[in-house]
Amino acid sequence: MDGLQLYDTHRGEVLPLQPLTPDRVSIYTCGPTVYGRLHVGNLRTYVMEDVLIRTLRLLDAHPYRVMNITDVGHLTSDADEGEDKLQAEAARQHSTAWDIAARYTDLALQDFAAMHLLPPDQLVKATDRIAEQIMLVQELEAKGYAYRTNDGMYFATEKLADYGKLAHLDPEMLQAGSRVALGEKRSHTDFALWKFSPAGQQRDMEWESPWGVGFPGWHLECSAIIHATLGDQIDIHCGGIDHIPVHHTNEIAQSETVTGKQLAQHWMHIAFLKIDGGKMSKSLGNGYTLDDLAERGISAEALRFYYLGTHYRHPQNLTLEALEQSEQSLRRLRRLVQIGGGEQESVTQVNEDFRHALANDLNTPQALALVWQSARLTESPERLRLLQEMEEVLQIGLFKEEVLVEAPEAVRELAMQRDVARSEKNWAEADRLRGEITQAGYTISDTESGFLLTLN
Ligand code: AMP
Ligand code: ZN
Repeated sequence: MDGLQLYDTHRGEVLPLQPLTPDRVSIYTCGPTVYGRLHVGNLRTYVMEDVLIRTLRLLDAHPYRVMNITDVGHLTSDADEGEDKLQAEAARQHSTAWDIAARYTDLALQDFAAMHLLPPDQLVKATDRIAEQIMLVQELEAKGYAYRTNDGMYFATEKLADYGKLAHLDPEMLQAGSRVALGEKRSHTDFALWKFSPAGQQRDMEWESPWGVGFPGWHLECSAIIHATLGDQIDIHCGGIDHIPVHHTNEIAQSETVTGKQLAQHWMHIAFLKIDGGKMSKSLGNGYTLDDLAERGISAEALRFYYLGTHYRHPQNLTLEALEQSEQSLRRLRRLVQIGGGEQESVTQVNEDFRHALANDLNTPQALALVWQSARLTESPERLRLLQEMEEVLQIGLFKEEVLVEAPEAVRELAMQRDVARSEKNWAEADRLRGEITQAGYTISDTESGFLLTLN
């Protein structure tokens, strides 16, 4: 079996992955900023990264992955202005940045587990690697790439001939197009390495440094953590596409200036999830969480199934209707897996096609089509083994037993009222009734032959 072919943002094409060392594929995935609950956009990125890891395992490679937790330094504006997102949330909740970080890190880990994500081999908090981050700034300073302003230490991007190469940025256009005041920065693309705590104010999170008390710039943690855990160079670096022009561009600037080596062989970026056709982000507060979906009867597995239906490089537009359809299709698929079909195709061929689909830049829509095809095959031990192998990568609960129950009269009555509301297109009422059914401990889904009530 050939290895993985993966699109690389920098080179702009699908290329074979050639690991730096044969016995390990080193991967770094930018982790969450822990000032709020993860939304379905974040989860798309993490699920696709999980598919990457599981595909490498399927192809007999040995992925080794590090993920950071951003618990300090990510400001409300990517231009190094505004407040620290955690500090701002702490003020809003009358709490401390440390408590906010602890609470939302726990919740993020719970969401990862609910989405069946393999835990990273190392999970590293930015606040646990402050010394390494300070050392990196010292190295940049010694090489003449860091300068001081009245609010912090900045990276001098103009000194790098290839600054912005990942995003194929044209530095002159960037400067000309920027409407943000330059202040004491020498160039619009210069970014903070270390920010000073505001005069007369004590932050919850701040540290001594050779330049003054303060906290690290957001991009610094990833460069420092990669060096400390994986070395100068890695095989794959992942994140959402929003990271291309600023965060990853600046990680490259920092790391490559210090080491003189190419940071990552492959840059994998996951396209954005939109919601009802519009932008979603944690800061806009319009992102659904797993709890929001559970209240509407949509399981984490149906969400995963929904993500897999679109290639990771294509944007995806989430609607509740689409998720409900995913929930129903997944149930149909599970039933088909249980009872089998009459088709006689070669299991070996379907197996090969499945590996090939995933090895070809993680083509999950095609992989899902092959799951349906396998489910339609006549039952056999080989078919079962194939479906188990597919489940290992896709994690959609293919073998989950549906608990069909005789729901109590009161719950059936609610379900019937919901059918009436739906037929009148009274979605608000239908949603309310679904909520009541969920509270009563049942999940309602709509099948071709009417509604189906299952125990939560
Ligand atoms: P953050 O917590 O903002 O640092 O984001 C965590 C991860 O989620 C990053 O890799 C982001 O690129 C990614 N992300 C944020 N919003 C979306 C979205 N709407 N769709 C897909 N990925 C996203
Ligand atoms: Zn990062």
